[in-house]
Amino acid sequence: MREPPSTPTGRSTTQQRQSSLLRSLSDSQINYLISFDLEGNYTYVNQAFEDDFGPKEQFIGKNYLPTVHPEDVKTCEQAAQEMMEHPEKGVIFEIRKPKIDGTYCSSLWEFSGVLDAQGRVIESQGIGYDLHQQRTAEATNAALLQEAQRLNQKLQTSQEELTKSEKKFRSLTERSFDAITVYDKNGFITYASPSAESVMGYTPDELIGTSGCSYAFSEDEPIALRLLGDALAHPEVRISGEMRLARKDGRIIWVETVLTNLLHDENIRGIISNFRDITEQRQGQQAVAEYSKRLELATQSANIGIWDWLIPENYLMWDVRVSEILGLDASYSARYTASTADMIHTWLEIVHSEDRERVQQKMEEALQQGEGFNAQYRIIRPDNQEERYVEVHAKILRQDRQPLRMIGAMRDITAIKTTEQQLRSNIEALQKSNAELDQFVYSTSHNLRAPLASILGLVSILQGETDHAEQGHYLQLVETSIHRLDHTISSIIDYSRNTRVEVAAEPINFPEMIAEIIDSLYFLLHSINVRVTTSLPDTIFFATDPDRLKIIISNLLSNSIKYFNPQAVQPWVDISVGATDKGVIILIKDNGIGIPGNMQDRIFDMFYRASEQSSGSGLGLYIVREVTHKLSGTISMTSQVGKGSAFTVCLPSLAKRA
Ligand code: ADP
Repeated sequence: MREPPSTPTGRSTTQQRQSSLLRSLSDSQINYLISFDLEGNYTYVNQAFEDDFGPKEQFIGKNYLPTVHPEDVKTCEQAAQEMMEHPEKGVIFEIRKPKIDGTYCSSLWEFSGVLDAQGRVIESQGIGYDLHQQRTAEATNAALLQEAQRLNQKLQTSQEELTKSEKKFRSLTERSFDAITVYDKNGFITYASPSAESVMGYTPDELIGTSGCSYAFSEDEPIALRLLGDALAHPEVRISGEMRLARKDGRIIWVETVLTNLLHDENIRGIISNFRDITEQRQGQQAVAEYSKRLELATQSANIGIWDWLIPENYLMWDVRVSEILGLDASYSARYTASTADMIHTWLEIVHSEDRERVQQKMEEALQQGEGFNAQYRIIRPDNQEERYVEVHAKILRQDRQPLRMIGAMRDITAIKTTEQQLRSNIEALQKSNAELDQFVYSTSHNLRAPLASILGLVSILQGETDHAEQGHYLQLVETSIHRLDHTISSIIDYSRNTRVEVAAEPINFPEMIAEIIDSLYFLLHSINVRVTTSLPDTIFFATDPDRLKIIISNLLSNSIKYFNPQAVQPWVDISVGATDKGVIILIKDNGIGIPGNMQDRIFDMFYRASEQSSGSGLGLYIVREVTHKLSGTISMTSQVGKGSAFTVCLPSLAKRA
C-alpha cells in the first residue's frame, strides 16, 4: 500500500476515500508527484518516482538536498524561495536527479504551495517530468515522423513509378509490333492490345469475351488447342508455335505465337499470348525453299557441285555432288582450316601434279585481284586414284578489295574432254585425209593422163606407120600404157573400197588365195623371169576380210617381182605364212634391188616412188598399209640395196573357229 500525501488537516472517511482515489490516480501517473514540508523534507513520492529514483523509505522524512545534482541545489533553493513568495503562482525549473541506475535524470518540475485557511504555506507539491524520456520520445517521434515522411515519399515515388511503368507497359503493349491477348483458363479473351486489331482485324472490344481458339484457321484449330493445353499444363513456360488465323476480312494469315501461363500470378490471372503476323516471312521462306529446291534439281540434273568458301573465317562448305566429283567422303561436307594457304594446299593435293602449278597460280591471282576463278584441270580422285577432268567457275566477293567469300560451281567434264579429244583426233584425221585427197586427185589425174597421153601419141604414130613390124612394136607400147592405166584404176578402186566397204571376216585358205594371186600376175611374170616359192600351212584357222588380204599380198608380191635385181643370177620371191597366238605372220621376201635407207621411211606414203625403175603409181604400199590397219594389223620392212627386201605383215584373226 502506498502512503497518501500527508496533510495537516486530519482524516475523515470521505477524505480517506478521496485520498485513496487520489493515490490511485497519483500512482497511475507516468509523471512524478512529490510533496515537501517547510523544512524541505519529502512527505510524499508517487510510484513513478519510486520506479526511477528508489523506494519511498529512502526519501520520506529526508531532506531533498542530497537527492539533486550538486550543481542544481542552487536552482532548487531559488525555486523554493520564489514559491514561498508567490505560492499561488507556482514555479517551474529543471534539475538533474540521481537515478537508481546511477545516471542522472534531467527532469522538469513545477511546484506550488499548499495554503492553510489563513493563506500560509504549509506544504509544497510538485509534478515532475522525465525530460530524458520525453526527449527520447520526442526524438523517437521525430524519427518516426521522418521515417513516415520517407516512407510516404517512397510510396509516392513508387506510386509514380508504378504509374510510369504502367504507362510504359501500356504504351509498349499498345505500340508493340506484337499483338497481345490474355486468355482466362477457359481460353476466353480477357484483354486484347490495340495491335491485335492490326493483326486480326477485330477491335479489342470485339475480341474480349470470345474464345481465342475460334480465330484459328479451321485446319489449324488442333494446333491452337494443343498450344493452349500445353500452356495450361506448364505454368510460366513459354509455349511457342506457328499457325494460321482467319482475319475479320477473311484473309488467312500465318502467325507466330508465344503463350505464357500466368494464371497463378494475381496481377495477371491469365494466359498471355504474344503473336505476330509472319505471313510475308513464311512466303519469303517458301520462296527461298522453292528456289533452293529448283537450284538443287538444276544442279543435280546438270551434275554441278556447289561450294562456298568464307575466306577470312577459313571455312569451306560443299554439297554432296562436290564430294562425288572429287571422290571425297560425302558426309564430310564442311571444314575449317588454319589458314587460306592451308585451304589451298589441301585442295591442291587432289589436283593432278601436271596441272597443280598452273591452277595454284591462277587461284593466287584470283584471290589477289580477280573477280572470279575459272579453270579446267585434272584431279586424281583420292578414293580410287582415277584421273578425271573438272571445270570450276567461281565468283569472288570483296570488301575493301579484300576477298571475303568465293562461291563456285564445279562439274566433272571427263566425258566432254574425252569427246573433245576424240573430236580433235577426228579433225586431225580428216585434215590428213583431206590433204591426201588433194594429193590424190592431183596425182591420180596425172597418173591417168600420162598413159592416155602416151597412148594418143602412139596412135598418131601408128596412123602414119606402114611397116608391119614397127606397128607391132607400137601396139605393144600401147598395151603397156593401158596396163599402167588399168593398174592405177584398180589401185584407186582398192583404195576406195578399203575406206568405204565394211570389214568382213571369213576363214582364209592361203594356198588357194596365193595361187589365185600368182595367176593374176601372169602378165608380169610372163615378161620377167622371177621364181616364186611359197611355204604355206595347210591346216591353220585364220579369218579376215579376203578381198583386203588379197590387196595386201598381191601388192607386196607384184612389187617384189617388179623391183627384181637384173644383176641377180636367179631373181626370186618367197611367200611364207606362219601362225601366231592371235593370227598370222605373212613374210614376203625377195632378192631384188632393195630400197635405199633414206627412202625406207617414206615408201608407205601416198604416191611415193623410191626407184627410177618404178612404172607404178606410187599408191601400192600406201594402200597396203591402210588396208593392214583396217584389218587391225601391222606392217614393217627391212631392205638392203642390191640384196633384197622383206615385208612382214602381222594380222589378227577377226573371228574364232566356229
Ligand atoms: P609403185 O607403184 O611405184 O610400185 P609402191 O607404193 O608400191 O609404188 O612402192 C613405192 C616404192 O617403193 C616403189 O616405187 C619402189 O621404189 C619401192 N619398192 C617397193 N617394193 C619394193 C621392193 N620389193 N624392192 C625394192 N623396192 C621396192
